Amino acid sequence: MGLGGVNALCAEGADREGVRDAVDSIAELCQAEDLAALPVGRDVVVIGGGMTAVDAAVQSKLLGAENVTIAYRRSRAEMGASRYEQDLAASKGVRLMFNVQPVAVHGNGAVREVELEYTSSEGGSLTGTGETVRLKADQLFRAIGQRLEGAPESVALDGGKIAVTGAGRTSVQGVWAGGDCAAGGDDLTVTAVAEGRDAAMDIHKALVG
Ligand SMILES: Cc1cc2nc3c(=O)[nH]c(=O)nc-3n(C[C@H](O)[C@H](O)[C@H](O)COP(=O)(O)OP(=O)(O)OC[C@H]3O[C@@H](n4cnc5c(N)ncnc54)[C@H](O)[C@@H]3O)c2cc1C
Repeated sequence: MGLGGVNALCAEGADREGVRDAVDSIAELCQAEDLAALPVGRDVVVIGGGMTAVDAAVQSKLLGAENVTIAYRRSRAEMGASRYEQDLAASKGVRLMFNVQPVAVHGNGAVREVELEYTSSEGGSLTGTGETVRLKADQLFRAIGQRLEGAPESVALDGGKIAVTGAGRTSVQGVWAGGDCAAGGDDLTVTAVAEGRDAAMDIHKALVG
């Protein structure tokens, strides 16, 4: 069942017009019949540091945005997106900012600017330095992770995902889980497919005794 929920942006004004989930906009892009009809900002800021952030930023640039910035709260080395993805973003003209977290979204109704606070990481925990910078933004994408939504209450969880043992067996007999919704493994298509295959073989074994 994947990870259908999107994490909220904890910043003042985060509900302004022009602030969107990156996943929704990528879905819209993938299904669009006419790419030229898609609304794209002039100054786009993407909050996040994973593959979704890179996808949203690169696609915004390809759609014609003038300035696209990825703002990530930790260092480059801690970014979820691989170095290849980071370089791809840079090659398309996307600017990468590290150690900044959003604190406010400014505007008069719609987003006009995003205020970012510099961060420092001490002993693994992240703290704001109090020093901020404002970036012009008429489109702001949230790409700050997805979470499990709608899992049956009877199924045990592990770290917010469905706990599994072996080939995807959950805590409930007769229920298997795999892919993004299951604990462990990478959130990658190839992993989801492999786990689906392994679970199918295990289900077959269970059914035929
Ligand atoms: C923007 C973006 C870029 C990505 N880029 C890459 C990439 O380049 N390479 C890569 O390997 N991976 C990438 N991924 C990750 C990849 O998409 C996932 O790892 C993969 O899709 C996981 O497959 P899944 O089957 O577990 O979940 P999903 O693909 O999310 O499928 C789950 C399905 O279950 C449905 N569902 C949910 N609840 C219910 C319910 N109660 N009843 C019935 N159906 C339900 C959902 O609607 C959905 O269709 C990317 C993800 C995102 C968001």
